[in-house]
Amino acid sequence: MVISPSAYWTGPLPEATPPADMALYRLPTGTYTTRAVFAVTGGSVRDKREFAATAVLISHPKGDLLIDAGFGEHVAEHIAMLARMERAPHRLGRTAAQQLDAAGYDRSRLLGVLVTHVHWDHVSGLDSLRVPVWINEAEIRYGAADSHATVFRAVSQGLEIREYAFDGPEYLGFPASFDVHGDGSVIVALAAGHTPGSVVVFVTPPTGKRYAFIGDLTWQMDGISRGAERPWLLRRVADVDAGTVRAGLQRSIALSRVMQVVPAHDVAAYDSIPLLPSRFPSVTP
Ligand SMILES: [Zn+2]
Repeated sequence: MVISPSAYWTGPLPEATPPADMALYRLPTGTYTTRAVFAVTGGSVRDKREFAATAVLISHPKGDLLIDAGFGEHVAEHIAMLARMERAPHRLGRTAAQQLDAAGYDRSRLLGVLVTHVHWDHVSGLDSLRVPVWINEAEIRYGAADSHATVFRAVSQGLEIREYAFDGPEYLGFPASFDVHGDGSVIVALAAGHTPGSVVVFVTPPTGKRYAFIGDLTWQMDGISRGAERPWLLRRVADVDAGTVRAGLQRSIALSRVMQVVPAHDVAAYDSIPLLPSRFPSVTP
């Protein structure tokens, strides 16, 4: 896929008025290994790729959210639930729940986990976190029935489901949006295709740097820098609608010069986001 230079976004960016005490942190929980030949068009058989399983904490005075849950303490059992060809060697670090607890984080600040989609590598940690799951209707339906959502059904048992609707307008080329706090700082945009309710989460902290957490529109940075799609076989297996994924990927590439685009599984794409501090700042009254 080739993107022409004129396709890059040059228009104004949507307004956002993030509060001064809003902040972003990354919580890397582990990685799994995939052969590059399966990860990206043009990847070799011998080259192996590390896939990140990283949650991102959006700290906001109106309530905090995690984007995805990363690996949980039972991730080995979750991998065992997958079809044989989907299983991959993994390395588990500290779970998001363990990292939050170690930082003295008050988990009552957490509104929930906003999932980019319900595949195992994004939701494994839900059963350790035990907070509401923020999800849209299309993804709830997919999660209730699809064979690629068995882990989600297991880990979300007994958790509160917070269904949100895309009641907002088109956003940076994506057809519908949901403004979480009403200030433009966290926008969830529908980017269906990988799954029916997959989303991109646009985050604008007060630093002025913008982020697009694009889930699995592409797995690694090559998808953005080279316009490399998943290999055709994986598109057929992994995506419910490969054409819509391609359109979403094109939109993401177009935005990559005006914001940090973060494919969910690219380890280095998270580098500019700080880790949790050893003592999490408590809210000032
Ligand atoms: Zn994934």
